[in-house]
Amino acid sequence: MPGMLYLVPTPIGNLSDISVRCRETLEQADFIAAEDTRVSLKLLNHLGIKKSLVSYYEHNKAFKGNVIVDRILAGETCALVSDAGSPAISDPGEDLVKQCAEAGITVCAIPGPCAAITALSISGQATGRFTFEGFLSTAKKSRREHLESLLNEQRTMIFYEAPHKLLTTLEDMAAAFGPDRPISLCRELTKLHEEVIRTTLGGAVDLYTQQPPKGEFVLVLAGAEPKVQEAATPEDAAKRVAALMEGGMSRKDAIKQAAQELNLPKNVVYDAALEI
Ligand code: SAM
Repeated sequence: MPGMLYLVPTPIGNLSDISVRCRETLEQADFIAAEDTRVSLKLLNHLGIKKSLVSYYEHNKAFKGNVIVDRILAGETCALVSDAGSPAISDPGEDLVKQCAEAGITVCAIPGPCAAITALSISGQATGRFTFEGFLSTAKKSRREHLESLLNEQRTMIFYEAPHKLLTTLEDMAAAFGPDRPISLCRELTKLHEEVIRTTLGGAVDLYTQQPPKGEFVLVLAGAEPKVQEAATPEDAAKRVAALMEGGMSRKDAIKQAAQELNLPKNVVYDAALEI
């Protein structure tokens, strides 16, 4: 019988956010795969759990992934944790989940702390539709391309960012989306100095030009306003009918088509076309 892979979210600040189910899963797993074993050891000590730990992170995941899959196939149960928050979300785990799924191993994700969702829910921005953008690249070209791809995005956008790169990121965003775009800077969530700054990109640049940003941040950026299409006028209709007729269409068909294209009642287009 193969074992299972459990994705176990851990607190993003407040240690009381560990759930009963996460604690039980960590206790019952045969081994724990951790992004940084020293960080996870602190949490396990706090929970009073003693368990064998293996490291699984960006630079050893190709090799360690196979080791973990083999152990699970041999019948062991693995709990995967990252330094904080949900494994596989801008954290190691994505590849391991894929590898396990391909090997026919059952993967179980336990719901729990995630910085992106915690930030979105208190951002004050629209939550009905959103996109998760993770970290912007540090390479200038791909960073610019990433931002350009979002220029017409109407959904709320969620970004992760490290404090020392925050000001540059806000400046690049203000240049791309304009200084008036609303943004919520969600800082130190679930920690002592938790703070949500609801401002604009220009306001955020001003703020962090005056004082260096400290702590961990999630940026929740408002989507673009929907473009309001101006209603067509009878003059537009007359011009369109004339153009269609010049192209060889009968007056009747041209009126029908122009009415459809311009979303105008047929009688309005008909009256406008009488002027031609
Ligand atoms: N997998 C984690 C999750 O989904 O919660 C995210 C890991 S990612 C490597 C780390 C980033 O998450 C930080 O740079 C920051 O943007 C965000 N983050 C983590 N904890 C946070 C907190 N307490 N407050 C604000 N942002 C946080």
